Amino acid sequence: MNISEFRQYAKRWSKGKDPVKPLFPLDRLELLPADRKRKTHAVDHRSFIDSDGYWNIYPIAIDSFHVYIVCPYCQQIHIHGNDKGHYEGPRCPHCFTQAKNYKIVNISKKGRNT
Ligand SMILES: [Zn+2]
Repeated sequence: MNISEFRQYAKRWSKGKDPVKPLFPLDRLELLPADRKRKTHAVDHRSFIDSDGYWNIYPIAIDSFHVYIVCPYCQQIHIHGNDKGHYEGPRCPHCFTQAKNYKIVNISKKGRNT
């Protein structure tokens, strides 16, 4: 889904039994296209490429079964499984078959590289 759809999705599920909890303020993402009111793409500037050439990315939101990230390849929001809070590790991007796996990093470990 794109960033506009994600906003609505997060709002809709924020009051449910299994609320989507934000982990990062969405206004700190770079939203594109810059000149249009309706934003369709997002860039999370916390993401970085490690020395092995893998994208490392941090979640923007979480619920009991899913983790939500901004894809560095397609700038869309991707949903991955979250097993009781364990979401770290390499994941397949799903958007481009030729894309290298990215690694989801535990948000509590942020700060080591900055
Ligand atoms: Zn993608």
